Amino acid sequence: MTKRMFVFDAHLDLAIEGNRDLTRPLEEIRQREMHMKDKRDRGRGTVCLPELRKGGIGLVVATQLARYTPPGSSLAGWNSPQQAWAMTQAQLAWYREMEAIGEMVQITNLDELDAHIGLWENDNVADEKKPVGYILSLEGADSLVDISYLYKAYDYGLRAIGLSHFGPGRYAPGTKMEGSITPAGKELLKEMGKLNLILDVTHLTDEGFDQAIDLYSGPVWASHQNVRKIVPTQRQLNDEQIKKLIERKAVIGGMLDCWAMDIRFIDAISDPWQMNVRLENLVDHWDHICQLAGNSQHVAIGSDLDGIFGTEQSPWDMNSIADLQKYQDILARRGYKQEDIENIFHKNWLRFLRNAWS
Ligand SMILES: [Zn+2]
Repeated sequence: MTKRMFVFDAHLDLAIEGNRDLTRPLEEIRQREMHMKDKRDRGRGTVCLPELRKGGIGLVVATQLARYTPPGSSLAGWNSPQQAWAMTQAQLAWYREMEAIGEMVQITNLDELDAHIGLWENDNVADEKKPVGYILSLEGADSLVDISYLYKAYDYGLRAIGLSHFGPGRYAPGTKMEGSITPAGKELLKEMGKLNLILDVTHLTDEGFDQAIDLYSGPVWASHQNVRKIVPTQRQLNDEQIKKLIERKAVIGGMLDCWAMDIRFIDAISDPWQMNVRLENLVDHWDHICQLAGNSQHVAIGSDLDGIFGTEQSPWDMNSIADLQKYQDILARRGYKQEDIENIFHKNWLRFLRNAWS
């Protein structure tokens, strides 16, 4: 049997999904939701803390997320930035609770990172005793009421920001929109640079992407985004964008939402098994980026597996996030060398962080 390899997953929304006790076994979480019909992923979740440990996913980028919705918009969201901020603080409180009971540990700098990796490499400590490390990221910056809130957030450990999510956005328009980063967004980028925060370009418009790359000189990554050549929607990265990211030594996290893997897949209609969407589909996206880069140093995992979908919208050969381990065999079969596989599982993200934080 292949030895389990350490996994760094750069995109999970652990604090957001509706009323799940992620400390419990996956079967129990699913069982408790069997009667619920409010969301399509009820009873079908693939992420919880025991599964993360089982899959060797010892470090994640975990989000805070709360959108502001302007009057007239039909998008779900909060009616004021203050309400959105309050929601992100509730999410932070949940992470703190997980820390208090030893389930998770926040990683904010190089020393904490090295100590955490050391713990996970230590075979004398049982995996159940190892907390899942998390780097805090804000997905869509709407909740930062003004610039002073950026500094508050930095103080509680926020280390990465994506300016936008879906829809209009106070700092930048997001997925399914067009247009430029707002004046407030440009100001925010300036301040983020002073704090050396990581800029997450995922969910920016094409115009916003170009502006962000030009305006921001700090570290840049795309936490959860696939290849537009394979899935031709604005949500994915085109070749020009990929080349710019490679130039900036960025890493791109491949995501496992079926519609981001296979263009035929229609959200809420298609079935992963009928469409034969498998874990291996993501390797096509990785291959494309590796070909453009000439190496395997810019691709990694940003699964998004708890982004309000479950098995109904994930590769059919995956039951839980622990199945990320299957990529060892899948990649080997596709001709990736051990070193390439290690790059994808954790080395690329770790190299990125060590550069960004040193
Ligand atoms: Zn997202």
